[in-house]
Amino acid sequence: MSDGRVLLVTGGSRGIGAAVSFAAAREGWRVAVNYAVNRQAAEDVVRLVTGAGGSALAVQGDVGTEDGIEAIFAAVDSAFGRLDGLVNNAGIVGPPQRVDEISAERLERMLRVNVAGSIRCAAEAVRRMSTRHGGMGGAIVNLSSMAAVLGSPGQYVEYAAAKGAIDSFTVGLAREVAGEGIRVNAVRPGIIDTEIHASGGLPDRARDLASSIPLKRPGAAGEVADAILYLLSDKATYVTGAILNVSGGR
Ligand code: NAP
Repeated sequence: MSDGRVLLVTGGSRGIGAAVSFAAAREGWRVAVNYAVNRQAAEDVVRLVTGAGGSALAVQGDVGTEDGIEAIFAAVDSAFGRLDGLVNNAGIVGPPQRVDEISAERLERMLRVNVAGSIRCAAEAVRRMSTRHGGMGGAIVNLSSMAAVLGSPGQYVEYAAAKGAIDSFTVGLAREVAGEGIRVNAVRPGIIDTEIHASGGLPDRARDLASSIPLKRPGAAGEVADAILYLLSDKATYVTGAILNVSGGR
């Protein structure tokens, strides 16, 4: 159990983030369920968590903007007054495009949400959790992707590059704050059955790629959540700077 510790899950309202919110609440975390636009989805997660006896709060804020990040952390501060964990889960893809077709606007938004958003949220979390700043320590888990290793040619190389940046950030921040009570790790999901594929214009992507995955099926959001909960937990007290593939062998 987590003794009322507080976890912020960015993009905690759908897909992998929602699975993390549910699993964390079951383990006793109080959960700030962040969302950008779909308030109903966040409120549904909160309702299910509280209905099962857990504690959760929906927190609006676009991690791709400074105003959004300020709003998220202000809401967490005022509702809970502490922070013990961050899952940097909010992320976006775009429709399949070659690099020579990608607009400057798409590239800028991709890097702002997937890279700068995660780095800025981690910075705000470190300010609250680091013993250097009077905090009590904590854990951060970043969502990378197998795309960081595979490169996603012909689909979204810029997304893969953004996730590569998350890998480097994970290793660097882990070493930077290791002496301050904070562990930092990442997971690299493979093909997970969520709505992200439809948002990239490929609603059947998980099913279409199933036969190419060594385990012969897409992963479930809950299977990624289980890995994230392990990295957040006291079972992982000697794990930092690690990047765990959760990809069915892909
Ligand atoms: P998803 O089903 O599309 O859900 C995305 C979540 O992020 C939603 O809660 C969404 O909230 C939120 N979100 C999106 N943009 C945001 C922003 N700018 N600020 C705050 N919240 C935002 O995605 P998923 O498949 O669960 O993916 C979660 C993470 O895993 C992402 O980082 C993704 O890159 C990574 N990943 C996924 C897969 C996969 O196959 N699914 C594979 C590898 C890595 P709203 O509904 O309010 O927009």
